[in-house]
Amino acid sequence: MARGGDQSWRPGESDGQPEERTAQNSRAKMVKETQYYDILGVKPSASPEEIKKAYRKLALKYHPDKNPDEGEKFKLISQAYEVLSDPKKRDIYDQGGEQAIKEGGSGSPSFSSPMDIFDMFFGGGGRMARERRGKNVVHQLSVTLEDLYNGVTKKLALQKNVICEKCEGVGGKKGSVEKCPLCKGRGMQVHIQQVGPGVVQQIQTVCVECKGQGERISPRDRCEICGGAKVTREKKIIEVHVEKGMKDGQKILFHGEGDQEPELEPGDVIIVLDQKDHSVFQRRGHDLIMKMKIQLSEALCGFKKMIKTLDDRVLVITSKAGEVIKHGDLKCVHDEGMPIYKAPLEKGTLIIQFLVTFPEKHWLSPDKLPQLEALLPPRHKVRVTDDMDQVELKEFDPGEQGWRQHREAYEDDDDGPRAGVQCQTA
Ligand SMILES: [Zn+2]
Ligand SMILES: [Zn+2]
Repeated sequence: MARGGDQSWRPGESDGQPEERTAQNSRAKMVKETQYYDILGVKPSASPEEIKKAYRKLALKYHPDKNPDEGEKFKLISQAYEVLSDPKKRDIYDQGGEQAIKEGGSGSPSFSSPMDIFDMFFGGGGRMARERRGKNVVHQLSVTLEDLYNGVTKKLALQKNVICEKCEGVGGKKGSVEKCPLCKGRGMQVHIQQVGPGVVQQIQTVCVECKGQGERISPRDRCEICGGAKVTREKKIIEVHVEKGMKDGQKILFHGEGDQEPELEPGDVIIVLDQKDHSVFQRRGHDLIMKMKIQLSEALCGFKKMIKTLDDRVLVITSKAGEVIKHGDLKCVHDEGMPIYKAPLEKGTLIIQFLVTFPEKHWLSPDKLPQLEALLPPRHKVRVTDDMDQVELKEFDPGEQGWRQHREAYEDDDDGPRAGVQCQTA
């Protein structure tokens, strides 16, 4: 899909995430194609963190363990992430699209296996580790900002493979394991296929009888509990201690609690925290950021305001009379940010961005305006001469044709935040 002038794409629309606005990414970015960005549901201007987060969510959702029918989608997510997470490859893609990525390598794009990307991302240790150990089980745990502020213990029910108690992982009676008669213990079957006149091809496939194991148990000797699978599926409850100050995407490891397999060390359970968006606060590192609307009178004459904290205390902030607060001004309260992980008595900073609400049109009768003007700083006098053109100032309609295309360029200059603070309607 070409980017220029295409109206089907909207910032932040893809997965209901609020649009992130930072000084770095608020400018529209011109790229040749957006396909990889679309797959991950991010904007072409997304930061590396946003790309990571998008991959994390989608990879867990479409992992074959949870979504066996979405293998192709899992692969696409993995490929898009592989390109966009590498600054060099991302640059090549932005400039030349998928075609450039393909040509960049040796003819065809050499993507890593989706499983390896997944394992690398979630700390599974890659293919080698996977072969010596049982599978890791990765789970996402949804938490609120309050949970991360106060700490919480959550119970999570997991399904995992456990060595069958009845047969102790043999799969049948002792001595019932025999060499697979179909593949003669090789685990692979060889088929000869004619692909053309006088041309045959040898194709190796995993043995259907033993599923590549090279040995099997004859049906009548199979364990009646696990049916020869050597393992059973069990439900296990684990308690996850979410500590104060932990953050979105943080992993909590349960060593050896993953799937069990005979003769293998069990894998790990990896819990990945997923923070839900908060209606008031946005977290950035140790700091909390919020927006506060104030009236023009408050901005000019001072105010007292209340803020409810994430642990249900009420803070009172005061702006002294005469201290003018401008639209977009940032103020802060020290030690009212997020608790610091492993040192929860220390806290970051609470940053407040003020949005000044101006009075509506004609709020003051015209005869009172001079009174107001007398109190305000003097206005600039303008001398109009004959060689100037007097033109009419009209309301501007953002829906007007021809403006939408340029919308992103204007969006930086509206009442949006300055210091990379996210827009929220409080
Ligand atoms: Zn076999
Ligand atoms: Zn069994």
